[in-house]
Amino acid sequence: MRIIGLTGGIGSGKSTVAQFLREKGIPVIDADKTGHELLTDNELIRRAVVEAFGTEITVNGGISRDKLAALIFSDESARYRLNGILHPAIIQQVTLRCAEEFQRGRSVVVVEAALIGEEEQREPWLSGLILVLTATEERVKRLVRDRNMKESEARERIASQTSPEKKIPLADWVLYNDGYLESLKNQAAALAKELIRLEEDVSGAGGKRDS
Ligand code: ATP
Repeated sequence: MRIIGLTGGIGSGKSTVAQFLREKGIPVIDADKTGHELLTDNELIRRAVVEAFGTEITVNGGISRDKLAALIFSDESARYRLNGILHPAIIQQVTLRCAEEFQRGRSVVVVEAALIGEEEQREPWLSGLILVLTATEERVKRLVRDRNMKESEARERIASQTSPEKKIPLADWVLYNDGYLESLKNQAAALAKELIRLEEDVSGAGGKRDS
């Protein structure tokens, strides 16, 4: 099985690319969403996070993602602590989802995650990497427009991540998303064709695909 990463800075268009790929029949697992689900659905994780950061990040006993985000994006050591709690559990969930796709006969799976390549090295479990690149000012504009963020908040979150340009040497495919959605869609369609070809190569001629 080939696991292909899909990464890019916050607001660059990863989820939009993921959606375009799904529409072309490529399985995409959203590791960031898995992290969000663990915070709400997994009691052990919830307890560990509250123990680490205190009840000030909770509302009615549940973790408030907004409060947690405000804390971790302004405090690097808090961010590392949260990642230390969440990442092993996210990897476990993503591994399970990959195994499910394999059982369905899929041999190429895309894993969407903002934090791939943050140490400027490609994770050893990846066979390939897709990077979505968008100029910082465009990302700020989109985050303010679509995510209800203040400009200062958008800039703080962008600054908390490794500069996406530093990940270019790690990437096999770079999609540029400064322009119209149509352009991104065309790039994603061309990429989907390559991934389908790769799957045919991996599975052998006539390899099984369920879409
Ligand atoms: P995050 O890291 O927060 O998950 P992301 O990288 O997944 O962000 P998206 O959610 O795909 O980014 O895109 C951010 C916002 O920008 C969304 O509202 C999306 O609809 C919008 N967007 C993405 N690409 C374009 C584009 N080319 N033109 C206009 N809007 C866009």
